[in-house]
Amino acid sequence: MNSETRSCQNCKNDFIIESDDFGFYEKIKVPPPTFCPECRLKRRTAWRNDWHLFKKKDSHTGETIFSLFPEESPVKIYDRDYWWGDDWDPTEYGKGYDFSRPFFEQFKELLDEVPIPSTSMTFVVNCHYCTNANNIKNCYFSRGITYTEDSAYLIWDQASKNCFDSHMTNGCELSYGNVNTINCYKTLFSVDCESCQETILCKDCVGCNSCFGSAGLRNKSYCIFNQQYSREEYLKKVAEFELDSSKKFEEIKKNVYQHWLKYPQKFMRGRQNVQVTGDYIYESKNAKNCYRIRDTENSRFVSNVLSGPVKDCYDYTNWGENAELVYESLIVGLGAYNIKFSLQSWNDVKNLTYCVFCHNSSNLFGCVSLRNKSYCIFNKQYTKEEYEILVPKIIEHMNNMPYIENGIVYKYGEYFPSSLSHFPYQITQAQEFFPLNKKDAKNQGFLWYEVAKPNYQVTLKKENIPDSIKNIDKSILNEVIECTHGGSCGHECTGAFRVIKTELNFLKRMNIFLPRLCPNCRHYERLSLRNSFGLYNRVCMCEKKYSNHEGKCSIEFETSYSPDRPEIVFCEKCYQQEVY
Ligand SMILES: [Zn+2]
Ligand SMILES: [Zn+2]
Ligand SMILES: [Zn+2]
Ligand SMILES: [Zn+2]
Repeated sequence: MNSETRSCQNCKNDFIIESDDFGFYEKIKVPPPTFCPECRLKRRTAWRNDWHLFKKKDSHTGETIFSLFPEESPVKIYDRDYWWGDDWDPTEYGKGYDFSRPFFEQFKELLDEVPIPSTSMTFVVNCHYCTNANNIKNCYFSRGITYTEDSAYLIWDQASKNCFDSHMTNGCELSYGNVNTINCYKTLFSVDCESCQETILCKDCVGCNSCFGSAGLRNKSYCIFNQQYSREEYLKKVAEFELDSSKKFEEIKKNVYQHWLKYPQKFMRGRQNVQVTGDYIYESKNAKNCYRIRDTENSRFVSNVLSGPVKDCYDYTNWGENAELVYESLIVGLGAYNIKFSLQSWNDVKNLTYCVFCHNSSNLFGCVSLRNKSYCIFNKQYTKEEYEILVPKIIEHMNNMPYIENGIVYKYGEYFPSSLSHFPYQITQAQEFFPLNKKDAKNQGFLWYEVAKPNYQVTLKKENIPDSIKNIDKSILNEVIECTHGGSCGHECTGAFRVIKTELNFLKRMNIFLPRLCPNCRHYERLSLRNSFGLYNRVCMCEKKYSNHEGKCSIEFETSYSPDRPEIVFCEKCYQQEVY
């Protein structure tokens, strides 16, 4: 089939379905999408609460526990351990399919009735206030992490140890305040760095040791603002920056961020790729419009899937670890095959369609919270033969009697309507990438309701926090510290925060000032250091004034740097001539 331009059912903009895409849809037997890629991503990620935790009543014990789901959400939750146990049976909620009502209307009822686990985690040892995680140990207040140990305040980490306050980290150790760093050791406040040691406030550096405030360096040591120093000079000068002082740090940071802008950036981050577009892409092949992926092949519109192998997947967000033929799904992985329109389903799952929180299962259609089951529809058990007759009938019925909301028609092949989501839009990943206000979110069919916020009583006013970490002792552990933003910043500021013992020990050991912001505000600060989804067609900016080489290459590329950004953006070839 040739590529075709279609009009998005939702935003009414045109979008292109490529001939390869049609091949994929045919292979997994789904109709081509009616929503454009961006509307699909928004709709899907409006089902993911990336990093908020709330207090909510456990429907089994009646106790208030920490949960991914706000109290205001109509879903029922069970404590995660109880949910995973055998003391309750989710098939008791099973019901027959009603051919007089649309599928999604019936599914919504099941979704509100069947308890789901309080948090989304598996293989967890001694962790507190964590969620969206697997295989983690001794972690605190960390979200979207996997194989992480002894760390706190990480969002989106893989296999780091003793790290704090970072975003998008992978295999780092004893590091702090970083964004998108890979295999770094004792690295502080750095961005887009790989295999660096003891670097501070560096950007786009690889294989560097003891560098400060520099950008675009390869295998260098003792550089400050990209200037070479001797070891002795370096140590003396860095000590003069006095990173133990919050005030000094804020001044230095401003200068460093200005300095970074002088150095060209490659149009995308990643390496060892063949035919890819997107950003933060590693070791992947034929992966288009992807974001933060690794070891992914023949796939499109895949994001946040850092553990491969991932093969033949479209519109797939979060996780991985052996996923094949996953389409329009979220938080699916660790052995997932032929999964469509599902979320929160993992551990050897196969042939799931419209499923939520189903694990170790195969051949399920429209089920919630099942484990070790096959051939169920709406949580009701059928024989293989019954199942195989009934599923095509339901699909036909979904097409003949679609669910319609705000003029949008949801036949078979659409993801769950956003109005069924477990979360109000403003706390979801969709809000992070496509921020909307209440009015616009509601107009676009997303949920929006207020959720309870923690109510802290400040015991330490911001003006009374000692400037240097040297003047802070363990009595700080008892304080509720006022966030400098004081709740007025639009960062979901909690107004105040606490410091934990391991964090204080780390700050003292590394001689870093005490943070002045609550974890939410700190996260938003780091978000501004990473590029978002969305690709722009741009031309290499290799004019003489920005580069050391002659001539202008005119190479075009797709980049996540929007045209209004201050960075100098180069094509691969020109960029390679600039880093040294
Ligand atoms: Zn659209
Ligand atoms: Zn705050
Ligand atoms: Zn703030
Ligand atoms: Zn160029």
